[in-house]
Amino acid sequence: MNKDAHFGGAYVPEMLWETLHELTEAFNTARNDSVFQSEFQDLLKNFSGRPTPLIFAARATGELGGAKVYLKNEGANHTGAHKITHCLGQGLIAKKLGKKMLIAETGAGQHGVATATVAAKLGLECVVFMGSEDIRRQRPNVFLMERLGAKVVPVEYGSKTLKDAVNEALKFWMEHLHDAHYCIGSVLGPAPYPEMNRYFQSVIGREIKEELREREGALPAAVVACVGGGSNAMGSFWEFVPDAAVRLIGVEAGGIGKNIGEHASRKIAGELGIFQGYKSLFLQTKDGQIAPTHSISAGLDYPGVGPELAQLYESGRVELTYALDSEAVEAADFFAKLEGVIPALESAHALSEVRKMAPTMPKEAIIVATLSGRGDKDLFNFARAFKDTSFRDFLKDEYGRYE
Ligand SMILES: *Cc1c(COP(=O)(O)O)cnc(C)c1O
Repeated sequence: MNKDAHFGGAYVPEMLWETLHELTEAFNTARNDSVFQSEFQDLLKNFSGRPTPLIFAARATGELGGAKVYLKNEGANHTGAHKITHCLGQGLIAKKLGKKMLIAETGAGQHGVATATVAAKLGLECVVFMGSEDIRRQRPNVFLMERLGAKVVPVEYGSKTLKDAVNEALKFWMEHLHDAHYCIGSVLGPAPYPEMNRYFQSVIGREIKEELREREGALPAAVVACVGGGSNAMGSFWEFVPDAAVRLIGVEAGGIGKNIGEHASRKIAGELGIFQGYKSLFLQTKDGQIAPTHSISAGLDYPGVGPELAQLYESGRVELTYALDSEAVEAADFFAKLEGVIPALESAHALSEVRKMAPTMPKEAIIVATLSGRGDKDLFNFARAFKDTSFRDFLKDEYGRYE
Protein backbone atom coordinates (compact mmCIF):
# COMPACT_ATOMS: atom_id res chain seq x y z
CA MET A 1 0.00 0.00 0.00
CA ASN A 2 1.25 3.48 -0.89
CA LYS A 3 1.69 5.31 2.40
CA ASP A 4 1.39 8.73 0.74
CA ALA A 5 -1.91 7.89 -0.85
CA HIS A 6 -4.49 10.60 -0.80
CA PHE A 7 -7.86 8.90 -0.78
CA GLY A 8 -11.01 10.32 -2.29
CA GLY A 9 -11.12 12.96 -5.01
CA ALA A 10 -13.49 13.18 -7.96
CA TYR A 11 -12.24 11.22 -10.96
CA VAL A 12 -15.17 11.88 -13.27
CA PRO A 13 -15.78 13.04 -16.85
CA GLU A 14 -15.55 16.81 -17.29
CA MET A 15 -19.30 16.88 -17.99
CA LEU A 16 -19.96 16.19 -14.30
CA TRP A 17 -17.65 18.81 -12.83
CA GLU A 18 -20.21 21.59 -12.72
CA THR A 19 -22.88 19.33 -11.24
CA LEU A 20 -20.55 18.07 -8.50
CA HIS A 21 -19.47 21.64 -7.81
CA GLU A 22 -23.13 22.68 -7.45
CA LEU A 23 -23.79 19.73 -5.16
CA THR A 24 -20.78 20.64 -2.99
CA GLU A 25 -22.01 24.23 -2.67
CA ALA A 26 -25.54 23.06 -1.82
CA PHE A 27 -24.20 20.68 0.83
CA ASN A 28 -22.01 23.37 2.40
CA THR A 29 -24.92 25.78 2.45
CA ALA A 30 -27.28 23.16 3.89
CA ARG A 31 -25.03 22.16 6.78
CA ASN A 32 -25.00 25.78 7.98
CA ASP A 33 -28.65 26.47 7.26
CA SER A 34 -31.05 26.29 10.20
CA VAL A 35 -34.07 25.71 7.91
CA PHE A 36 -32.40 22.70 6.27
CA GLN A 37 -31.34 21.40 9.68
CA SER A 38 -34.85 21.58 11.09
CA GLU A 39 -36.35 19.89 8.02
CA PHE A 40 -33.75 17.10 8.21
CA GLN A 41 -34.19 16.64 11.98
CA ASP A 42 -37.97 16.59 11.56
CA LEU A 43 -37.77 13.78 8.97
CA LEU A 44 -35.33 11.79 11.11
CA LYS A 45 -37.59 12.07 14.14
CA ASN A 46 -41.08 11.95 12.70
CA PHE A 47 -40.58 9.81 9.59
CA SER A 48 -37.63 7.53 10.31
CA GLY A 49 -38.17 7.27 14.07
CA ARG A 50 -34.94 8.63 15.57
CA PRO A 51 -33.32 8.51 18.01
CA THR A 52 -32.88 4.76 17.58
CA PRO A 53 -32.63 2.69 20.80
CA LEU A 54 -29.33 1.89 22.47
CA ILE A 55 -29.99 -1.58 23.88
CA PHE A 56 -28.06 -2.88 26.86
CA ALA A 57 -27.50 -6.53 25.90
CA ALA A 58 -27.68 -7.83 29.48
CA ARG A 59 -27.97 -11.55 28.77
CA ALA A 60 -25.31 -11.58 26.05
CA THR A 61 -23.02 -9.61 28.39
CA GLY A 62 -23.52 -12.24 31.10
CA GLU A 63 -22.95 -15.11 28.71
CA LEU A 64 -19.76 -13.60 27.25
CA GLY A 65 -18.45 -12.81 30.74
CA GLY A 66 -16.45 -9.66 29.94
CA ALA A 67 -17.19 -6.15 28.70
CA LYS A 68 -20.69 -4.66 28.84
CA VAL A 69 -22.27 -4.97 25.42
CA TYR A 70 -24.59 -2.32 24.00
CA LEU A 71 -26.35 -2.54 20.63
CA LYS A 72 -27.20 0.63 18.70
CA ASN A 73 -30.31 -0.49 16.86
CA GLU A 74 -30.36 1.22 13.46
CA GLY A 75 -32.71 -1.57 12.39
CA ALA A 76 -35.44 0.35 14.21
CA ASN A 77 -35.33 2.99 11.46
CA HIS A 78 -38.14 3.18 8.90
CA THR A 79 -37.31 0.66 6.12
CA GLY A 80 -35.21 -1.33 8.59
CA ALA A 81 -31.68 0.04 8.31
CA HIS A 82 -29.44 3.09 8.55
CA LYS A 83 -29.56 3.73 4.77
CA ILE A 84 -32.71 5.88 4.98
CA THR A 85 -30.71 8.61 6.80
CA HIS A 86 -28.34 9.57 3.97
CA CYS A 87 -31.14 9.13 1.42
CA LEU A 88 -33.28 11.66 3.34
CA GLY A 89 -30.36 14.09 3.50
CA GLN A 90 -29.66 13.78 -0.21
CA GLY A 91 -33.35 13.99 -1.10
CA LEU A 92 -33.65 17.31 0.75
CA ILE A 93 -30.54 18.67 -0.96
CA ALA A 94 -31.90 17.55 -4.35
CA LYS A 95 -35.06 19.54 -3.67
CA LYS A 96 -33.03 22.63 -2.71
CA LEU A 97 -31.27 22.28 -6.08
CA GLY A 98 -34.65 22.19 -7.84
CA LYS A 99 -34.23 18.57 -9.00
CA LYS A 100 -37.34 16.58 -9.92
CA MET A 101 -35.91 13.08 -9.81
CA LEU A 102 -33.70 10.76 -7.78
CA ILE A 103 -31.58 8.23 -9.66
CA ALA A 104 -30.08 5.24 -7.87
CA GLU A 105 -28.42 1.98 -8.68
CA THR A 106 -28.84 -1.02 -6.46
CA GLY A 107 -27.52 -4.56 -6.19
CA ALA A 108 -29.47 -6.31 -3.45
CA GLY A 109 -32.15 -3.64 -3.59
CA GLN A 110 -31.79 -2.17 -0.08
CA HIS A 111 -30.52 1.18 -1.34
CA GLY A 112 -33.18 1.15 -4.07
CA VAL A 113 -35.93 0.70 -1.49
CA ALA A 114 -34.54 3.49 0.74
CA THR A 115 -34.26 5.86 -2.25
CA ALA A 116 -37.74 5.01 -3.54
CA THR A 117 -39.15 5.59 -0.04
CA VAL A 118 -37.55 9.02 0.21
CA ALA A 119 -38.61 9.96 -3.33
CA ALA A 120 -42.22 9.09 -2.52
CA LYS A 121 -42.11 11.01 0.76
CA LEU A 122 -40.56 14.13 -0.82
CA GLY A 123 -42.60 14.06 -4.05
CA LEU A 124 -39.72 13.25 -6.40
CA GLU A 125 -39.68 10.82 -9.31
CA CYS A 126 -37.42 7.82 -8.86
CA VAL A 127 -35.53 5.71 -11.39
CA VAL A 128 -33.53 2.74 -10.10
CA PHE A 129 -31.04 0.86 -12.27
CA MET A 130 -30.52 -2.78 -11.47
CA GLY A 131 -28.74 -5.62 -13.25
CA SER A 132 -31.28 -8.06 -14.70
CA GLU A 133 -29.54 -10.90 -12.83
CA ASP A 134 -30.03 -8.99 -9.54
CA ILE A 135 -33.67 -8.26 -10.43
CA ARG A 136 -34.22 -11.98 -10.78
CA ARG A 137 -32.55 -12.73 -7.42
CA GLN A 138 -34.07 -9.84 -5.46
CA ARG A 139 -37.70 -9.86 -6.54
CA PRO A 140 -39.11 -8.87 -3.10
CA ASN A 141 -37.16 -5.58 -3.11
CA VAL A 142 -38.04 -4.90 -6.76
CA PHE A 143 -41.68 -5.41 -5.82
CA LEU A 144 -41.35 -2.92 -2.93
CA MET A 145 -39.65 -0.30 -5.10
CA GLU A 146 -42.43 -0.58 -7.67
CA ARG A 147 -45.12 -0.29 -4.99
CA LEU A 148 -43.34 2.88 -3.81
CA GLY A 149 -43.73 4.29 -7.32
CA ALA A 150 -40.16 3.88 -8.58
CA LYS A 151 -39.29 2.81 -12.10
CA VAL A 152 -36.87 -0.13 -11.94
CA VAL A 153 -34.78 -0.32 -15.12
CA PRO A 154 -33.13 -3.69 -15.89
CA VAL A 155 -29.53 -3.57 -17.14
CA GLU A 156 -29.01 -6.39 -19.59
CA TYR A 157 -25.29 -6.24 -20.39
CA GLY A 158 -21.99 -7.30 -18.79
CA SER A 159 -22.44 -9.43 -15.69
CA LYS A 160 -25.98 -7.94 -15.35
CA THR A 161 -25.17 -6.99 -11.73
CA LEU A 162 -24.27 -3.95 -9.65
CA LYS A 163 -21.29 -2.58 -11.57
CA ASP A 164 -23.22 -2.59 -14.84
CA ALA A 165 -26.11 -0.85 -13.07
CA VAL A 166 -23.65 1.86 -11.89
CA ASN A 167 -22.49 2.46 -15.47
CA GLU A 168 -26.04 2.72 -16.73
CA ALA A 169 -27.10 5.05 -13.89
CA LEU A 170 -24.12 7.34 -14.63
CA LYS A 171 -25.00 7.42 -18.31
CA PHE A 172 -28.62 8.29 -17.53
CA TRP A 173 -27.48 10.97 -15.07
CA MET A 174 -25.31 12.65 -17.69
CA GLU A 175 -28.37 12.84 -19.95
CA HIS A 176 -30.53 14.36 -17.16
CA LEU A 177 -28.13 16.55 -15.18
CA HIS A 178 -30.57 19.42 -14.96
CA ASP A 179 -33.46 17.41 -13.49
CA ALA A 180 -31.89 14.53 -11.62
CA HIS A 181 -29.86 13.97 -8.47
CA TYR A 182 -27.81 10.79 -8.34
CA CYS A 183 -28.44 9.36 -4.88
CA ILE A 184 -25.35 7.36 -3.82
CA GLY A 185 -25.93 4.66 -1.21
CA SER A 186 -22.80 4.73 0.93
CA VAL A 187 -19.79 6.90 1.82
CA LEU A 188 -18.45 6.29 -1.68
CA GLY A 189 -18.18 7.89 -5.08
CA PRO A 190 -16.64 11.20 -6.11
CA ALA A 191 -16.44 14.17 -3.72
CA PRO A 192 -18.62 15.47 -2.10
CA TYR A 193 -20.54 12.18 -1.62
CA PRO A 194 -18.24 10.44 0.94
CA GLU A 195 -18.12 13.48 3.23
CA MET A 196 -21.80 14.34 2.69
CA ASN A 197 -23.14 10.87 3.49
CA ARG A 198 -20.80 10.53 6.48
CA TYR A 199 -22.06 13.92 7.70
CA PHE A 200 -25.68 12.69 7.55
CA GLN A 201 -24.87 9.33 9.16
CA SER A 202 -22.78 10.82 11.99
CA VAL A 203 -26.04 11.18 13.94
CA ILE A 204 -25.46 7.50 14.91
CA GLY A 205 -22.26 8.22 16.85
CA ARG A 206 -23.64 11.41 18.41
CA GLU A 207 -26.64 9.52 19.77
CA ILE A 208 -24.40 6.72 21.10
CA LYS A 209 -22.16 9.21 22.90
CA GLU A 210 -25.02 11.15 24.44
CA GLU A 211 -26.91 8.06 25.60
CA LEU A 212 -23.80 6.51 27.16
CA ARG A 213 -22.93 9.75 28.92
CA GLU A 214 -26.36 9.69 30.55
CA ARG A 215 -26.53 5.99 31.35
CA GLU A 216 -22.90 5.11 32.10
CA GLY A 217 -21.16 8.45 32.46
CA ALA A 218 -18.39 7.02 30.32
CA LEU A 219 -17.02 6.63 26.83
CA PRO A 220 -17.04 3.15 25.29
CA ALA A 221 -13.78 1.21 25.08
CA ALA A 222 -14.72 0.20 21.52
CA VAL A 223 -17.26 0.95 18.82
CA VAL A 224 -17.75 -1.91 16.36
CA ALA A 225 -19.57 -1.76 13.01
CA CYS A 226 -19.72 -3.81 9.83
CA VAL A 227 -18.14 -2.34 6.70
CA GLY A 228 -19.51 -2.66 3.20
CA GLY A 229 -19.00 0.76 1.64
CA GLY A 230 -18.58 2.13 5.15
CA SER A 231 -21.59 4.37 5.84
CA ASN A 232 -22.90 2.82 9.06
CA ALA A 233 -19.29 2.43 10.28
CA MET A 234 -18.28 6.02 9.49
CA GLY A 235 -21.56 7.24 10.99
CA SER A 236 -20.88 5.29 14.18
CA PHE A 237 -17.17 6.20 14.38
CA TRP A 238 -17.03 9.88 13.40
CA GLU A 239 -18.03 11.37 16.75
CA PHE A 240 -15.35 9.27 18.47
CA VAL A 241 -12.41 9.92 16.13
CA PRO A 242 -10.95 12.60 18.48
CA ASP A 243 -11.36 10.31 21.54
CA ALA A 244 -8.09 8.41 21.24
CA ALA A 245 -9.01 5.93 23.98
CA VAL A 246 -12.00 4.62 22.00
CA ARG A 247 -11.09 1.78 19.65
CA LEU A 248 -12.92 1.97 16.32
CA ILE A 249 -13.28 -1.43 14.73
CA GLY A 250 -14.70 -2.13 11.27
CA VAL A 251 -15.72 -5.69 10.43
CA GLU A 252 -15.59 -6.76 6.80
CA ALA A 253 -16.96 -9.81 5.01
CA GLY A 254 -14.51 -12.70 5.40
CA GLY A 255 -16.81 -14.86 3.26
CA ILE A 256 -15.63 -18.44 2.88
CA GLY A 257 -11.86 -18.05 2.45
CA LYS A 258 -8.89 -15.81 1.74
CA ASN A 259 -8.57 -16.28 -2.01
CA ILE A 260 -9.75 -13.56 -4.37
CA GLY A 261 -13.42 -14.19 -5.07
CA GLU A 262 -14.08 -15.82 -1.69
CA HIS A 263 -14.45 -12.68 0.48
CA ALA A 264 -14.92 -8.91 0.35
CA SER A 265 -12.21 -7.79 2.78
CA ARG A 266 -10.01 -4.87 1.79
CA LYS A 267 -7.85 -5.63 4.83
CA ILE A 268 -7.04 -9.05 3.39
CA ALA A 269 -6.31 -7.90 -0.16
CA GLY A 270 -7.21 -4.25 -0.83
CA GLU A 271 -4.97 -2.32 -3.24
CA LEU A 272 -4.94 1.36 -4.05
CA GLY A 273 -6.99 2.10 -7.14
CA ILE A 274 -9.46 4.44 -8.81
CA PHE A 275 -12.96 3.18 -9.57
CA GLN A 276 -16.41 4.74 -9.84
CA GLY A 277 -15.02 8.24 -9.40
CA TYR A 278 -12.87 7.94 -6.27
CA LYS A 279 -9.46 6.73 -5.11
CA SER A 280 -9.44 4.14 -2.36
CA LEU A 281 -8.67 0.52 -1.52
CA PHE A 282 -10.24 -1.97 -3.92
CA LEU A 283 -10.11 -5.72 -4.37
CA GLN A 284 -8.37 -6.19 -7.70
CA THR A 285 -7.14 -8.93 -9.95
CA LYS A 286 -3.42 -9.22 -10.77
CA ASP A 287 -3.90 -7.03 -13.85
CA GLY A 288 -5.72 -4.30 -11.93
CA GLN A 289 -9.32 -5.13 -12.87
CA ILE A 290 -11.98 -5.05 -10.15
CA ALA A 291 -12.07 -8.52 -8.61
CA PRO A 292 -15.14 -10.63 -7.92
CA THR A 293 -16.23 -10.71 -4.26
CA HIS A 294 -18.28 -13.01 -2.08
CA SER A 295 -20.30 -12.53 1.08
CA ILE A 296 -23.40 -14.14 2.53
CA SER A 297 -24.62 -10.58 3.12
CA ALA A 298 -25.37 -8.56 -0.02
CA GLY A 299 -24.61 -5.25 1.71
CA LEU A 300 -20.98 -6.18 2.39
CA ASP A 301 -20.39 -7.77 -1.02
CA TYR A 302 -18.60 -4.83 -2.64
CA PRO A 303 -14.96 -4.46 -3.85
CA GLY A 304 -14.26 -0.90 -2.60
CA VAL A 305 -14.45 1.01 0.66
CA GLY A 306 -15.19 4.66 1.41
CA PRO A 307 -12.10 6.88 1.06
CA GLU A 308 -12.40 8.53 4.49
CA LEU A 309 -12.53 5.11 6.10
CA ALA A 310 -9.53 3.94 4.07
CA GLN A 311 -7.66 7.04 5.28
CA LEU A 312 -8.54 6.38 8.93
CA TYR A 313 -7.47 2.76 8.50
CA GLU A 314 -4.17 3.77 6.93
CA SER A 315 -3.46 6.26 9.71
CA GLY A 316 -4.14 3.53 12.27
CA ARG A 317 -7.13 5.24 13.87
CA VAL A 318 -9.59 2.64 12.57
CA GLU A 319 -8.85 -1.08 12.84
CA LEU A 320 -10.26 -3.54 10.34
CA THR A 321 -11.00 -7.19 10.85
CA TYR A 322 -13.38 -9.67 9.28
CA ALA A 323 -15.99 -12.32 10.10
CA LEU A 324 -16.66 -15.42 8.02
CA ASP A 325 -20.12 -16.16 6.57
CA SER A 326 -20.54 -18.98 9.10
CA GLU A 327 -19.46 -16.79 12.04
CA ALA A 328 -21.99 -14.14 11.05
CA VAL A 329 -24.82 -16.69 10.97
CA GLU A 330 -23.76 -18.04 14.39
CA ALA A 331 -23.62 -14.53 15.84
CA ALA A 332 -27.09 -13.74 14.50
CA ASP A 333 -28.43 -16.88 16.17
CA PHE A 334 -26.67 -16.07 19.47
CA PHE A 335 -28.08 -12.53 19.72
CA ALA A 336 -31.54 -13.56 18.50
CA LYS A 337 -31.92 -16.11 21.29
CA LEU A 338 -30.30 -14.04 24.06
CA GLU A 339 -31.47 -10.55 23.18
CA GLY A 340 -34.61 -10.88 21.09
CA VAL A 341 -32.90 -9.14 18.20
CA ILE A 342 -32.67 -10.68 14.73
CA PRO A 343 -29.94 -8.68 13.02
CA ALA A 344 -29.35 -8.20 9.30
CA LEU A 345 -26.59 -10.55 8.14
CA GLU A 346 -24.37 -7.51 7.53
CA SER A 347 -24.74 -6.39 11.15
CA ALA A 348 -24.15 -9.96 12.34
CA HIS A 349 -20.53 -9.55 11.17
CA ALA A 350 -20.06 -6.81 13.78
CA LEU A 351 -21.77 -9.01 16.38
CA SER A 352 -19.39 -11.85 15.62
CA GLU A 353 -16.47 -9.58 16.52
CA VAL A 354 -18.23 -8.61 19.77
CA ARG A 355 -18.42 -12.31 20.67
CA LYS A 356 -14.66 -12.60 20.14
CA MET A 357 -13.70 -9.37 21.96
CA ALA A 358 -16.01 -9.07 24.94
CA PRO A 359 -14.65 -12.07 26.90
CA THR A 360 -11.10 -10.65 26.67
CA MET A 361 -12.09 -7.30 28.16
CA PRO A 362 -12.65 -6.19 31.78
CA LYS A 363 -16.22 -6.12 33.11
CA GLU A 364 -16.29 -2.33 33.46
CA ALA A 365 -15.37 -1.77 29.80
CA ILE A 366 -18.16 -0.97 27.33
CA ILE A 367 -18.46 -2.18 23.73
CA VAL A 368 -21.05 -0.65 21.43
CA ALA A 369 -21.90 -2.58 18.27
CA THR A 370 -23.98 -0.94 15.59
CA LEU A 371 -26.84 -3.09 14.33
CA SER A 372 -26.96 -1.52 10.88
CA GLY A 373 -30.25 -3.23 10.06
CA ARG A 374 -32.84 -5.75 11.12
CA GLY A 375 -32.95 -9.27 9.76
CA ASP A 376 -36.39 -9.34 8.14
CA LYS A 377 -34.87 -8.80 4.70
CA ASP A 378 -32.65 -11.88 5.20
CA LEU A 379 -35.52 -14.28 5.86
CA PHE A 380 -34.74 -16.35 2.75
CA ASN A 381 -30.98 -16.38 3.49
CA PHE A 382 -31.52 -17.39 7.12
CA ALA A 383 -33.91 -20.14 6.13
CA ARG A 384 -31.30 -21.53 3.71
CA ALA A 385 -28.42 -21.11 6.20
CA PHE A 386 -30.37 -23.09 8.82
CA LYS A 387 -31.40 -25.68 6.20
CA ASP A 388 -35.03 -25.18 7.18
CA THR A 389 -36.84 -27.55 4.83
CA SER A 390 -40.29 -26.52 6.07
CA PHE A 391 -39.52 -23.04 4.77
CA ARG A 392 -38.81 -24.61 1.38
CA ASP A 393 -42.17 -26.40 1.60
CA PHE A 394 -43.83 -23.10 2.43
CA LEU A 395 -42.33 -21.54 -0.71
CA LYS A 396 -43.67 -24.43 -2.80
CA ASP A 397 -47.12 -23.96 -1.25
CA GLU A 398 -47.01 -20.22 -1.90
CA TYR A 399 -46.07 -20.97 -5.50
CA GLY A 400 -49.13 -23.22 -5.77
CA ARG A 401 -51.38 -20.36 -4.71
CA TYR A 402 -50.64 -18.40 -7.90
CA GLU A 403 -53.06 -18.88 -10.78
C1 LIG B 1 -26.23 -1.62 2.92
C2 LIG B 1 -26.08 -2.17 4.26
C3 LIG B 1 -24.82 -2.27 4.87
C4 LIG B 1 -23.53 -1.91 4.20
O1 LIG B 1 -23.39 -0.55 3.88
P1 LIG B 1 -22.41 0.44 4.63
O2 LIG B 1 -22.36 1.62 3.73
O3 LIG B 1 -21.10 -0.23 4.80
O4 LIG B 1 -23.02 0.76 5.95
C5 LIG B 1 -24.75 -2.78 6.16
N1 LIG B 1 -25.86 -3.19 6.80
C6 LIG B 1 -27.09 -3.10 6.25
C7 LIG B 1 -28.27 -3.58 7.03
C8 LIG B 1 -27.24 -2.60 4.95
O5 LIG B 1 -28.47 -2.54 4.41
